[in-house]
Amino acid sequence: MTKEKKLTKVIETNIENGWEAPIHGEFKGVEEDESTGEYLAIFKELGDDVVFKMSAVLFLFHPKFAKAYWGEEDYQLTTSCDTESDKDGLWGSVSDGESSIVFFMGSVWQYYLQQAVLSKDLIDYYYKNVRYKLYCHGCCKPYTAILNRDVKVKTIQCPNCGGRHILAPIMG
Ligand SMILES: [Zn+2]
Repeated sequence: MTKEKKLTKVIETNIENGWEAPIHGEFKGVEEDESTGEYLAIFKELGDDVVFKMSAVLFLFHPKFAKAYWGEEDYQLTTSCDTESDKDGLWGSVSDGESSIVFFMGSVWQYYLQQAVLSKDLIDYYYKNVRYKLYCHGCCKPYTAILNRDVKVKTIQCPNCGGRHILAPIMG
């Protein structure tokens, strides 16, 4: 799949999520600027010949775009510690004197945007790590999770009932 198609899918997904582009018109696709190698999102007003183009990096790094794409819930901690911890920015740590555990204390979008900035390819990262609304067949409750877009069957541990069920996507 080309970079243009991946980025188009990312933008379409986020428009469905409620993201509003900071530019007029309806989203019409993506093109690569041949002289700079930049990817441009194209917007066009209905019935108007004027086309607006915006560099994708202007919104891919923007908190508003990341919030709509990955969600604003607290990032799920991998440890259930509730002891006092050292906090350094968005990362915290606890220590029992011998070993220590480092964990993330921010929101889901903050975690994924950090990873995206440091990833090999920003567009690939956005494309792969997508937010799903899922439905647990065990306890019948909806749940959201960031999963790899290309993985067809999602079996993850349900946070509601703890069972390892096949979680069927509701949308996305
Ligand atoms: Zn469940």
